[in-house]
Amino acid sequence: MLAEAMVELGKKRSTIREIFEYGNQRAKVVGRENIFDFSIGNPNVPTPEIVTNTLLDIIAKENPAVLHGYTSAQGADFVREEISVSVNRRFGTNFTKDNFYMTVGAAAAISICFKALTVPGDEFIVFAPFFPEYACFIEKGAGAKCVTVPADTQTFQINFEELEKRLNEHTKGVVINSPNNPSGAVYSEETILRLARLLSEKEAEYGHAIYLISDEPYREIAYDGIEIPYVTKYYKNTFVCYSYSKSLSLPGERIGYIVVPSEMEDWRDAYAAVCGAGRILGYVNAPSLFQRVAAVCAAETSDISVYQKNRDLLYEGLTSYGYTVVKPQGAFYLFPQALEADEKAFCERAKKYDLLLVPGTDFGCPGFLRVSYCVTTAQVERALPLFKKLAGEYGK
Ligand code: PLP
Repeated sequence: MLAEAMVELGKKRSTIREIFEYGNQRAKVVGRENIFDFSIGNPNVPTPEIVTNTLLDIIAKENPAVLHGYTSAQGADFVREEISVSVNRRFGTNFTKDNFYMTVGAAAAISICFKALTVPGDEFIVFAPFFPEYACFIEKGAGAKCVTVPADTQTFQINFEELEKRLNEHTKGVVINSPNNPSGAVYSEETILRLARLLSEKEAEYGHAIYLISDEPYREIAYDGIEIPYVTKYYKNTFVCYSYSKSLSLPGERIGYIVVPSEMEDWRDAYAAVCGAGRILGYVNAPSLFQRVAAVCAAETSDISVYQKNRDLLYEGLTSYGYTVVKPQGAFYLFPQALEADEKAFCERAKKYDLLLVPGTDFGCPGFLRVSYCVTTAQVERALPLFKKLAGEYGK
């Protein structure tokens, strides 16, 4: 007998994938250039030249037997050393290589954290709208319970009243994601301070640690010079889950890391639990070649000005056509309100214009839709009149 839960997961494509596949089929009929696929978060800005040059350089100079061999399970020492120096310089932290564990992207980083922490009966709290894989990783991967806090749809900051109602003695961790997929919100320092205060109070009340899992693949994609607080400075029991998928446009190469700060309760055991979870999940080590690339390019980013331009065009356009949108401060997503109560029906109607949008229900936030604008600016410009026509159907 097979594991039914896995069969079910394997058969069910995510809505985003469904829409993406629909777009591929439609492209065969109307031409790729006439499909406005805002469904998927695959960066369209090319990886920076320094990444390509670094790759070529490493391949030319490195002994292939070493380059393609296994590294230490937690990542090569010199890689973790280089990355710790870069993070300390940019964020004013005080990490060493021993605080870093290299991963197969952010997806592996967060699923390792859930696995490392969970004992039977544990709960993790997520904030709507959230990356849909959290629920899978928490429930199917780690066997914990995923508890959702409804969104504050006015700001997409944390809804503290609802959070307080859901914290209890079974809460093992809280997941935050800023800049956020799908709202584009960036948590302010005030939000992080308030969260840290609340969790510290609850730790004292329940007599055990409550871990913050800070999922940060969009840290470098932020606009208008906004500051993104470095969460370990505010709350000691924080795991930082980082990825180069978005910042360096390398999602297919699968490289990221977890930071386990020395201030964390029993941090050496916490780090060992991360290593143990990585082992049990079969990761062995993060890709060797891209560990080396990350070591050299840790402080680089793709040209995010393209995303900022797309955000500005879409935000200005959509609000002028009568859509309600909280202005995103980071990531490459816009999360407007649908123009009818049933956002799935709205997304279906949008297909008439070959506008491919993702219903908010998938992110735990019905009534909204995600517009993923990591596409060319020309595509955004050509899509705007279609968003306008769509709004016109609702008398806007
Ligand atoms: N977390 C969030 C919020 C994401 O949006 C994504 C990918 O889109 C991931 C994690 C997974 O990132 P990675 O490709 O690094 O595994």
